[in-house]
Amino acid sequence: MATLMVIILLWITPLTLAGWVGSQKGRQGLGLTLGVLLGWLGLLIIALIPPTAEGRRAEALRHGFACPFCQEPVRQGATVCPHCQRDLSTPSPEESRAPAQSPEQG
Ligand SMILES: [Zn+2]
Repeated sequence: MATLMVIILLWITPLTLAGWVGSQKGRQGLGLTLGVLLGWLGLLIIALIPPTAEGRRAEALRHGFACPFCQEPVRQGATVCPHCQRDLSTPSPEESRAPAQSPEQG
């Protein structure tokens, strides 16, 4: 019984956590691999590895939206895109294209 507890504490717990941390960073496979091979040390390593661009984008989109100009993730409430420096306080190009005030033609 004691051996089972040691296995759970030293291997399954860090393996689960490493897989979760990895999935947050878009590196679930790497997290699980490190957790299986290194246990708590693997969890530490995956925690220190920076997220992939894909993981960062998914993380940012969880808290915000995609910039209408460059499609990069922007935090909710931002008025200027940190990637393309465009003004986000105005409506997106598609919205402004709507015929709110149709000019006289003819
Ligand atoms: Zn942008």
